[in-house]
Amino acid sequence: MSAVGANPTDPTHAAVIEGYLRAFKMPGALRVYLPLAEEAKTQGHSYLAYLADLLTREAENRRANQMAQRLRQAKLPTAKTLDTFDFAAVRSLNRPRILNLSQGDFLRAHENVILLGPSGLGKTHLGAGICQALIYQGFRTRFTTAARLMEELAAAQRRGELQKTLRSWARYDLVMVDEIGYVPFTPDGARVMFQFFAEAYERQSLLVTSNLTFARWVDVFGDPTMTAALLDRLTHRAHIFTLDGESYRLRQAKQQRSSASAP
Ligand code: ADP
Ligand code: MG
Repeated sequence: MSAVGANPTDPTHAAVIEGYLRAFKMPGALRVYLPLAEEAKTQGHSYLAYLADLLTREAENRRANQMAQRLRQAKLPTAKTLDTFDFAAVRSLNRPRILNLSQGDFLRAHENVILLGPSGLGKTHLGAGICQALIYQGFRTRFTTAARLMEELAAAQRRGELQKTLRSWARYDLVMVDEIGYVPFTPDGARVMFQFFAEAYERQSLLVTSNLTFARWVDVFGDPTMTAALLDRLTHRAHIFTLDGESYRLRQAKQQRSSASAP
């Protein structure tokens, strides 16, 4: 019996199609092939139009799954995005430059981003927002804090697995290292952090935030010569933003108080 011109809902065809779609790992197509076939029949779409629709749905499904997986992998600390960032609140920040970063050209050039400024000005929000936008551009990003990264690398070194752990961080297009400056590093911790930054140099982009000016990084890293070398590499090809003003929440709280007391 020829399959040409057969009814799309023929159970033997369905078994063959479903078997192959499962074997080829095409769950998106598996979900929609029948309703799309019905729709194609009632609307009079051609065979080719149907096949194009089906493959497009599978591709869209794969892309959505990949984005969801990359978002999980990134371990971002907040779901906040660039859309919800109030640029008007930070006068020192150039909005077009930030939005331009979210296109990802700096990743292709292995450049870094550095966000400096006191606590509460939105560095983590902004950085996570940039990471999320980059994931939607198809890049792989991963968030960590400086303290957590130091602990992970120092523990890896004690196990004799530092190289392996460094390689696992090297597979991201961008690593965001948040909060350099809150926790001073132990001498062992500083050494592995120097190594991490050296490995990333000109091979991978970093997005670093700090509440300290560069001159004070030596307080965190300890060794002045190594710190100077690290800063030299980190800032060599970097987009540096200094946020100033007062804490966003504090400002909001003040505004609420003053509008509540207004006549
Ligand atoms: P930082 O990392 O600089 O200490 P955060 O990013 O943690 O600051 O910001 C503190 C809180 O204030 C977060 O909830 C953040 O979403 C919010 N916030 C800070 N600045 C802004 C801003 N300009 N627009 C919107 N929300 C902001
Ligand atoms: Mg923060």
